[in-house]
Amino acid sequence: MSFKRDALLLKGDTPGSTIELPFYRVGPSTAPEKVYLQAALHADEQPGTMLLHHLLPMLRQADEQELLRARFVVVPMANPIGMANMVHRTHVGRYDLNTGVNYNRQWPDLFAMIRSSVVGRLGDSDAFNVNLIRKAVASWIEAQQPRTSAEQLRLFLLKEAHDAEFVLDLHCDSDSLPYIYTSPELMPELQDLADWMGAAAVMTAADSGGGSFDEVLPQLYRKVAQTNPGKPVPMASATATLEYRGLNDVFDHYGEQDALRLFGFLCGRGLIEADPGPVPSQTGEATPFEATEIVRVDRTGMVAYRVDLGQRVTKGQPVADLIAMDGPEAFVARTPIVAGTNGLVLTRSLRKYVTRGEGIMKIVGTTPLPARKGGYLLED
Ligand SMILES: [Zn+2]
Repeated sequence: MSFKRDALLLKGDTPGSTIELPFYRVGPSTAPEKVYLQAALHADEQPGTMLLHHLLPMLRQADEQELLRARFVVVPMANPIGMANMVHRTHVGRYDLNTGVNYNRQWPDLFAMIRSSVVGRLGDSDAFNVNLIRKAVASWIEAQQPRTSAEQLRLFLLKEAHDAEFVLDLHCDSDSLPYIYTSPELMPELQDLADWMGAAAVMTAADSGGGSFDEVLPQLYRKVAQTNPGKPVPMASATATLEYRGLNDVFDHYGEQDALRLFGFLCGRGLIEADPGPVPSQTGEATPFEATEIVRVDRTGMVAYRVDLGQRVTKGQPVADLIAMDGPEAFVARTPIVAGTNGLVLTRSLRKYVTRGEGIMKIVGTTPLPARKGGYLLED
């Protein structure tokens, strides 16, 4: 049996503080493939933690029955630093309180870090090149001397994730259906993941502009491949951000069902030797993230939604009203907010008081929007 609790101790940045990050290693250490699962990198997003709470006993049982064919690293609370960000009874888990940095932005460009150590050394086989790249990444990580607890944390998560064949980062949106962000090269390869998850949408971007965790490894392999034409460099880590509904959707029934579905995906891939049953019915095709409209308000106000999650809307259709909160018609005037594309209402905002420029809805379309092309694609 291999189910093992482990923990990382981070040196805190303030006097007397040490921060513990408990996690689990499961499965035979000699297994050729590795699966890395983390949740709550945005520390206030607990749906993924609830899922992993339900998945861990399933993995433990499969381990006892010797059914695991991969090594699993499970980090249900990937950001213990952010768990401390309580401000006046509100959990600010998305941003580092000290620096203002979004915990899922500005991850390192590993290609820039290891480029010189792989140049001229790539061979003619996938396996050789992947091994070379992973060794270079591991050496770079090893050579770092992190100063802050945040840097220690990032290096640890990268160290555990960099050599995994599957890297799944569990998040949630504000008020949302389940959906996936991933790299264009990984679709339709990961269609089965979307189907098992029951994803309402799969949005792809090679570079969303934010340096998010799920883009680190695909960017690395993409850039090595692009700069070494003629050498085989596969996308060795199937990496995705899985958005498990909204912030408030933390319940056993969701967690258990979602864990069973993820377990089914892992079985389907032969990473666990069990019959997962039939793949749930196929969800839609992936779309470029540039085709998703982030509906923003151009003034402050209170949002009254006219449409529900999952509803299909057409371009020009009013999807919400913004109730004025200042000016001559304060609390009287309502300004319709219209959809800028045909598509599916994927997310809304839990908070209905919104300020100028804020995103209040994502509408998943199929045609890239001119305003989104090549720009910064994320909400914050
Ligand atoms: Zn998140």
